[in-house]
Amino acid sequence: MQPINAFELAQKQFDGVAQKMGLDPQIAGILRWPLREFRFQIPVRMDNGQIQVFFGFRVQHNDARGPAKGGIRFAANETIDTVRALAMWMTWKCAVADLPLGGGKGGVVVDPTTLSVGEKERLCRGWVDQMWKNIGPRMDVPAPDVGTNAQMMGWMMDEYSKLRGEYVPGVITGKPIGSGGSQGRTEATGFGVIYTVREAMKHLKMDPTRCVAAIQGFGNVAQYAALGFVEILGGKVACVSCWDNKDKRAYTYSHPDGVNPRFLMSITDQYGTIDKEKAHQAGYIIEDGDAWISKEADVLIPAAIEGQINAETMTRISPRVRLVAEGANGPTTLEADEFFKAQGIFVIPDFLCNAGGVTTSYFEQVQNDMNFYWSKEEVLKKLDTKLTQAFHDVLALSVKEGIYMRDAAYMVAIRRVVEAMELRGWV
Ligand code: NAD
Repeated sequence: MQPINAFELAQKQFDGVAQKMGLDPQIAGILRWPLREFRFQIPVRMDNGQIQVFFGFRVQHNDARGPAKGGIRFAANETIDTVRALAMWMTWKCAVADLPLGGGKGGVVVDPTTLSVGEKERLCRGWVDQMWKNIGPRMDVPAPDVGTNAQMMGWMMDEYSKLRGEYVPGVITGKPIGSGGSQGRTEATGFGVIYTVREAMKHLKMDPTRCVAAIQGFGNVAQYAALGFVEILGGKVACVSCWDNKDKRAYTYSHPDGVNPRFLMSITDQYGTIDKEKAHQAGYIIEDGDAWISKEADVLIPAAIEGQINAETMTRISPRVRLVAEGANGPTTLEADEFFKAQGIFVIPDFLCNAGGVTTSYFEQVQNDMNFYWSKEEVLKKLDTKLTQAFHDVLALSVKEGIYMRDAAYMVAIRRVVEAMELRGWV
């Protein structure tokens, strides 16, 4: 199978909707490419005394509605096209959640598991040394993503503040609590997935307490989606799957009574790898990484990496599945999207479903600006309100025009971005 180029997918999705909306081709021409791209080298002194050069990226897709916003990924297979696609999806994500922010994304080509703590810190500071003139609370605000975490954001904020000569917590979000971070950020994306699942279930007249979910991934998003599915909705999670860094392959972990997310979280490392031995001892069934997709479930939550539901894997989806909640960015290929439409499977598209992270990032920035901090309950309540509103904005258009949820989400988002471009006199 051909590897999936995420940027081609993002552009094709956009082109299709732009055509359906009758969007002016000149405006579409601007929006199908990023406004700005940065590529740079980051020399890092490694623990053995040698200098190693890493390649870094930052893409600012659109900032008509406010400062660019989006995570920084540390991944061995990072490419400019992955970063472009994710930056574009961030523009739609911020717009669909009605946040006053644009879309950006960054990355470094590195397997973070191969770095010592000191090397990681020097790489984070090196990224900021290259980019600091082009990021900032009113310009572009990075955040954590795959392969990066709160501690790394703390180092980056510190480096930026040193370079600016003042404390600037709002330059980056996802920081540790106690260093400008927001309560609830850790849970935000996964719980956000669950808030949208709850609203979709109401619409589909599904009783969550009688529903089973199958989840791909067990990192930040998947862990809290699993926890939320069980503890907020009262449903059952049949399985989760994750990559095993030692074996360099993925496994699916299931339990006949449903998995216990809190137990699995207690035996999972910082990269989202479950301890196989401990899971086995606790009676978990361990299968191939792809097994999650063919489980008897009502809800599929792909929450790992892009391109996972594709022409090959979609044929194994159980006929019981009625709802797909895209926790990951870009988990569904165009072929699989057509399959969902044909089967009448309801999809909560990625940039709506996983907007909880960026919404809480926005709350973090607001708190940084005010220098006044909210409790976790307040943050999660505000998050729920925002995502519930976003879900219903999209659902209303989908129902009114009889269109697929992904198309409706794109239309809501694109209209808002185009309106901002017009109001600013760009087009
Ligand atoms: P993470 O690094 O914490 O976890 C990723 C998980 O996916 C890990 O458990 C890993 O083992 C698993 N995985 C990787 N390859 C796999 C494979 N082939 N099969 C099964 N499992 C595999 O990342 P995360 O923060 O949870 O992000 C997951 C997805 O959600 C990404 O697409 C990311 O861009 C997106 N996302 C994250 C956030 C956020 O706030 N963290 C917000 C929005 C979107």
